[in-house]
Amino acid sequence: MQIPGHIDPVPLPAKVTPRDDGRVDLIGLSVLEIRDVLVQAGLDEKQGKLRSKQLFHWMYHRGIDDFSVMTDMSKTLRPWLAERFVIGRPETVEAHLSEDGTRKWLLRSADKQDYEMVFIPDEDRGTLCISSQVGCTLNCRFCHTGTMRLVRNLSPGEIVGQVMLARDALGEWPKGVMDFADDEDEAENTKEYNQAYKSDGRLLTNIVLMGMGEPLYNFDNVRDAMKVVMDGAGLALSRRRITLSTSGVVPMIARAGEEISVNLAISLHAVNKETRDEIVPLNRKYSIEELLQACADYPGSSNSRRITFEYVMLKDKNDSDEDARELVNLLRKYDLPAKVNLIPFNPWPGSAYECSSPERIKAFSKIIFNAGISAPVRTPRGRDIMAACGQLKSASEKKSRAELDRLAEEKQAALG
Ligand code: SAH
Ligand code: SF4
Repeated sequence: MQIPGHIDPVPLPAKVTPRDDGRVDLIGLSVLEIRDVLVQAGLDEKQGKLRSKQLFHWMYHRGIDDFSVMTDMSKTLRPWLAERFVIGRPETVEAHLSEDGTRKWLLRSADKQDYEMVFIPDEDRGTLCISSQVGCTLNCRFCHTGTMRLVRNLSPGEIVGQVMLARDALGEWPKGVMDFADDEDEAENTKEYNQAYKSDGRLLTNIVLMGMGEPLYNFDNVRDAMKVVMDGAGLALSRRRITLSTSGVVPMIARAGEEISVNLAISLHAVNKETRDEIVPLNRKYSIEELLQACADYPGSSNSRRITFEYVMLKDKNDSDEDARELVNLLRKYDLPAKVNLIPFNPWPGSAYECSSPERIKAFSKIIFNAGISAPVRTPRGRDIMAACGQLKSASEKKSRAELDRLAEEKQAALG
């Protein structure tokens, strides 16, 4: 069935992209891919294997982007690498720091596409919200990103690059502590790191794929990027600390479970066909029943690893007591280990909805909570810096280039 927007995945950019200067950016590549590009550039297999491991460590574990300081590489190899490769970061167009500590970046790719990233510090964790696409094809009616024309998928390098840049900005190299491993393989990989750095200064502890874009429409790149982020020899974030949010691309949910096994969040937002068809048009293709069945089948979910159901609170649209009771019924019917995240709607100029009143949200939450399901209300963060998805990019398009440059400088200085 035809739904608004193009629902088919868009073509992926090539993985290893030479830049204008002919050099290859290594960010986002796995250790095997680094080995391949080294061999293609002329190293023999044995050297390629050794050097790729060293490079992987310098890049992802230490955050180093300068070959000349890689002391375990020979003096002749360092300039050889610098001539052929770079270890890049996305360009920062704007960086904002909110009164509440939330940080937001507008980033730019080498081909001048802008996308957003947000860091949300809490007492017990620091969550980085990253983008998977520039824009989104899915046109959810309450979402500002959905109003943008999709330009393209982000590459693994652009996805991993967001995490690298956040670690740079937070000053977390190299003493940021990696997450402790959940299985033996990971434990072996991470032992060396943990022995070396037992710092407690970790800021970036969690990643959510809740920025711009639908991650399951860019699955291969998201998977490859998350594999790099989870690799115990590098950034080493546990899959238990990564959450992928989808508007409900049913056929891809099982693969996400099998191939990356991260936590799952579902943008449910409505409990009947009529309302969900309106606000999440993908529902016309994959029904609520199919979606909840895919959740019930999601490998690895359990009471200790529950699936999050996101529910944006829209006044007089999806926020009645009856809606809340139906939500409970559905979660029970499919026997889902679930938690519900109630999101106050963040309005944007021209949006067709209003946010439910605080009393309504409280009443809705109480019905779910009384049924034994946790249903916290998400506290809006960074409102003073337009931290809601898609807003910064639009606002920036209205500013002049000179003004943007000035702002970028000011904000960089403020963030240190
Ligand atoms: N495309 C994915 C992930 C990005 S959107 C998805 O839809 O799940 C991340 C979350 O922000 C989703 O739950 C989305 O519904 C919510 N969201 C988008 N616009 C919003 C707005 N204006 N107010 C509140 N939540 C919003
Ligand atoms: Fe895309 Fe998610 Fe926004 Fe829907 S809510 S338009 S899927 S980014």
